[in-house]
Amino acid sequence: MTLAAGDAELLAIVKADAYGHSLALCAPAVARAGARWLGVTSVEEGVAARRLCPDARVLVIGGVFAGQGAAVIEHGLAAVVWEPGQLEELEGAARAAGARPGSVPVHLEIDTGMSRQGVSADGLDAVLALVGAGSPLRLEGVMTHLFAADEADGRVTEEQLVSLGEALGRIEAFGLFPDWLNVGNSAALLGGETGRIAAMAERHGMKAMLRPGLALYGLAPQFEPGEPEAVAAARRRLQPVLSWKTRVVGVRTVPAGAVVGYNGTFVATERMQLALLAAGYGDGLDRRLGNCFSLLVRGQRAPLVGRISMDQAVLDVTEIAGVEAGDEVVILGTQGHESITAFDHAEAAGTIPWEVFTRIGARVPRFAV
Ligand SMILES: *Cc1c(COP(=O)(O)O)cnc(C)c1O
Repeated sequence: MTLAAGDAELLAIVKADAYGHSLALCAPAVARAGARWLGVTSVEEGVAARRLCPDARVLVIGGVFAGQGAAVIEHGLAAVVWEPGQLEELEGAARAAGARPGSVPVHLEIDTGMSRQGVSADGLDAVLALVGAGSPLRLEGVMTHLFAADEADGRVTEEQLVSLGEALGRIEAFGLFPDWLNVGNSAALLGGETGRIAAMAERHGMKAMLRPGLALYGLAPQFEPGEPEAVAAARRRLQPVLSWKTRVVGVRTVPAGAVVGYNGTFVATERMQLALLAAGYGDGLDRRLGNCFSLLVRGQRAPLVGRISMDQAVLDVTEIAGVEAGDEVVILGTQGHESITAFDHAEAAGTIPWEVFTRIGARVPRFAV
C-alpha cells in the first residue's frame, strides 16, 4: 500500500461495507497490504471491522450515540468526537470500565467550513476541557474534512487549512499535544495535498494521516474544472477493484410492436431478440438506467430496454449472435474489449460513483477473485 507515500499514514476508509465491496473481503485485504488504520462510520461498523481485524486501529468517524460508549471501549475503537455529549458518553463508559487516565483515544474533528460535523471555533475550548488532565480520554488526533478537494483551483482547501492551523494553535495553547493530524480524502491525496498536510503536521509536532476511500477501490475522483496532471496520471495507474456481473435467465424472440416491461415504455421496432437478466433495482441496478444504458454480453454492448424491474431487467440482443441462458452479463467492469465504469453508471443515473458502489444490494454475493 503505497498510496500515502512515505510522509503520511494511511487510514483505509472501509465504511458502508467497504463502499459496497464487502468489508469482510476488503478490511483483511488492506490490513494484509500494510494499512494499520481502518475508518468506518458507525460503532456497529467498527465492531464488525474489529472482528475481522483484531490488530488494526479502527476509527469511528460518524459520532458516538448515547449508550454506545461501552462498545467503543470494549472493542478498542477510537472515536471521532466534536460534541461535549459524545465526550461525556465516552468518559462515563471509560470510568465504568476502570480505564486509566489518558488510555482511551479520541480524535477531535474541527469544522473548517463544511458545517456537517466537527466543533466550531466557538465551541473548541469547552470540548478541549473534557480531554484534559485526569480524564480517561486522550486527544490522540485532530481531524477535518476537506470538502472541496476536487475543485482544481484549491481555494476552499486553502481556507480550510488556514482555519485548521488556527485550531491547532489553540489546541497547543491549551496544553494538548495530539499525535495525528488526520486530514484528506482521495481527492486531497491524488490532487497532491499530502505534502502540505504533512508539513502542517510537522510544524505542530504531529504525524500526518490521510483517509482515502474511493482511490483504494481503484477510482480517481473527477476534478472540476479541469483535471490536474497528477490526477490524470493516478487515474491511468489505478484499476477498479470491483466487477459486477449477472447472467442471462433466458432469451426470447418478440414480434415488432411487442411492448417490454412495466407500462410498456419500450416497443419493439422490429422482430427482436430479448435477453432477461437476473438483476434489477433491488440489486442496485439504478431504475433510471431503463431505456438509456447498455450492459455487456458476449463482449458487446446491449441496450437495456423497458423499465428495470426489482429483480430483473431486459437487454436487446438482436444484434448479438448466440446469446443464451447462462451467459455472463457485465453490469460494471470489463468483458472482451469493452468496459463499463462506475462513472458511466453515475453519469447515466445522475449521481456519483460512491453512490453507485454503495447501492449494490446486500443480496448480490461478493467474491474475491
Ligand atoms: C468517506 C470519507 C472519506 C473518504 O472519501 P473518498 O472521497 O472516498 O476518498 C474521508 N473522510 C471522511 C470523513 C469520510 O466520511
